[in-house]
Amino acid sequence: MPELPEVETIRRDLEKEAVGRRIKTVEVKGKRSVRRHKTGTEFRARLEGRRISSVRRAGKYLLVGMDDTDVLVVHLGMSGQLLRAKSPKDPLARHTHVVITFTQGGQLRFVDPRTFGEMFVTTPAELGTEVPELAHLGFDPIEDVMSWAQFGVMLANRHSALKALLMDQKFVAGIGNIYADEILFAAGLRYDRPSDSLSAQEVRRLYRAMVETLIEAVKFRGSSLADQQYRDLYGETGSYQGEHQVYDREGQPCRRCRATVVRVRSGGRSTFLCEHCQI
Ligand SMILES: [Zn+2]
Repeated sequence: MPELPEVETIRRDLEKEAVGRRIKTVEVKGKRSVRRHKTGTEFRARLEGRRISSVRRAGKYLLVGMDDTDVLVVHLGMSGQLLRAKSPKDPLARHTHVVITFTQGGQLRFVDPRTFGEMFVTTPAELGTEVPELAHLGFDPIEDVMSWAQFGVMLANRHSALKALLMDQKFVAGIGNIYADEILFAAGLRYDRPSDSLSAQEVRRLYRAMVETLIEAVKFRGSSLADQQYRDLYGETGSYQGEHQVYDREGQPCRRCRATVVRVRSGGRSTFLCEHCQI
């Protein structure tokens, strides 16, 4: 599932490619992708003729602002892709569910084989009702500046295993399974360490690992895994997977100490870690 670095990569691409453009037509080919609207026509009517004025990210959601203040919300789900096409004549990928054509030419296409992703139009006022997660979203680890001391207080106020806490969108926004594992390796901390057991030095290490890992992953344009479908706006894969220290590296030597990276299964998901480096 795309996490903060992947969604942020697409947001930056959209800022270059879509902001300032006016929407000429919207074609809905797969109704499930716009399931919050009663009909595809209702979705179309709220977008056609509008100009895109901004692109924000809230956790793993893209918020595309329109010139009438409406917001087009895009959530990529498990396998969603937002792709730019230079010409309407470019061949349509399988599982293309929504096609947005700009008056200046060019298109944005929403492709989603597994259809867990979605697009819908709402108002800023209704956003929190439509997506309750957004109303209670925690701080953004790359946008919101905070001192590590503040972060330490937040950790101490919770009694939660570190990985579960990093993935709790109400605590911090945008981190999922891949980056939680990478951050905890970089911090030298185990996934199951209670958040209120950290020393000041460990708090500082965790904060730094979180910010640096995510910023680095954005630089590498995110992670594309063999079994996942993340592509940027231009249809290209990310390259941060080549930098992964533990995620999806079960049985391979730790890049730091050469011990074997292990996989632990809990709560339906896998955690990868080096038991020698992470305490
Ligand atoms: Zn190690």
